[in-house]
Amino acid sequence: MRETNFLIENNARHLWHPMAHPAEMQAHPPRIVNAAEGVEIVDIHGKKVLDAVGGLWNVNLGYSCEPVKRAIREQLEELPYYSTFRGTTNSPLIELSYELAEWFKEDGLTRSFFTSGGSDSVETCLRLARQYHKINGQPERTKFIALKKGYHGTHFGGASVNGNQNFRRNYEPLLPGVFHLPAPWTYRNPFGTSDGAEVAAAIGRLFEEEIAFQGADTIAALILEPVLGAGGVIVPHDSFLPLMRAISDRHGILLIADEVITAFGRTGAWTGSRLWGVKPDLMSTAKAITNGYYPFGAVMIADKVAEVFESNKNGTGTIGHGYTYSGHPVGAAAALATLKETSRLSVAANAAARGEELLDGLENLQNRHELIGDVRGKGLMCALELVSDRGSKTPAPKEILQTVQDATYEAGVLVRTSGPNVILSPPLVITANDVARIVSALDAGLAAAGGR
Ligand code: PMP
Repeated sequence: MRETNFLIENNARHLWHPMAHPAEMQAHPPRIVNAAEGVEIVDIHGKKVLDAVGGLWNVNLGYSCEPVKRAIREQLEELPYYSTFRGTTNSPLIELSYELAEWFKEDGLTRSFFTSGGSDSVETCLRLARQYHKINGQPERTKFIALKKGYHGTHFGGASVNGNQNFRRNYEPLLPGVFHLPAPWTYRNPFGTSDGAEVAAAIGRLFEEEIAFQGADTIAALILEPVLGAGGVIVPHDSFLPLMRAISDRHGILLIADEVITAFGRTGAWTGSRLWGVKPDLMSTAKAITNGYYPFGAVMIADKVAEVFESNKNGTGTIGHGYTYSGHPVGAAAALATLKETSRLSVAANAAARGEELLDGLENLQNRHELIGDVRGKGLMCALELVSDRGSKTPAPKEILQTVQDATYEAGVLVRTSGPNVILSPPLVITANDVARIVSALDAGLAAAGGR
């Protein structure tokens, strides 16, 4: 391997990073991660830290998951690639679609369509939603409703339903016919209340109002994350998802659950929708489906939607959409092994138990550090929202977040920052001891930022 200075200099010179300003990589070089084991990563200086980011909310089983590594190696030897366009398919993928149908049977999601990641999965859902209505004789149902603060990836469809201007403004004009409702957020919302049930009901009223204004017969789908992730881990009130499902049903609007982060256990349930007993019409997944070891995703399709396509009414059921890597055999083998381990290790139950401990720990930190305005979480997705003044809820400046992140790293734990939020999404296999390590390192990080 090249020497450290060469790597740092050339990273800044040649490599553009997602979601970052190129110049920032010179001013504040990223950490070069060289190795990983268990739930820890090792940087180029040999420093070992607990990865409380879990890769990017995806390495749910940690870095030493031998069955997944073995499955990838073996599949590479057997069949490293073949396409699934029409005339061909492959056996690990067929087995995977069978396993996923078993996994999501109780949600009524028994058909799958494969992709190479979360953005592809979202795009697939948006397209299938439009086509569903066209097959059904309602071609004018083309619009989408989404949530502010929602994150749905980076393709133009996904960016159009995104609810954060950082991911929109520089790329406009986006898809026409997309409308946003406020997020179910108790800490900040336009309704003047911090009562979750009131916030949910108010959003429901706005949804109804928007439907009446647009005309239900022009709306294809509502897309949302059951727990909003990148927008700062916004956990809705228990009434929210069932309410949005009921309103959608009343008006013939499909519900797309974007479960790219939440599927496969992160919230403490196997899907975020299941936390609230909601059955989506389309569900996007990716990330943890291969434990982050292979770029892969799956869209799960409800029977009701599938039957419309399969009936091929008006000869319009052909899917004019798909990727070179729709159903990559190596990804499929990785996913099969991941699902087996995910289920064998009961990681959802561990996420629920460790998540409660983590949330308790974070709430204790909030009692001691004025910097923490809000603490939120469900299972092992949590956020601290940092403020420079609790009364006015003024978001803490970027430098404070950088200091917290750097000092927490020095104390042995990697966390991620996004806007004013410190985001925690560790592997789902962490122990109570790991939780204590995360809380104690954050305590040091917050103290270094002058937070008391
Ligand atoms: N949807 C959600 C909810 C996500 O969190 C993400 C990625 N963080 C995406 C879609 C996009 O996934 P990818 O980055 O794999 O394209």
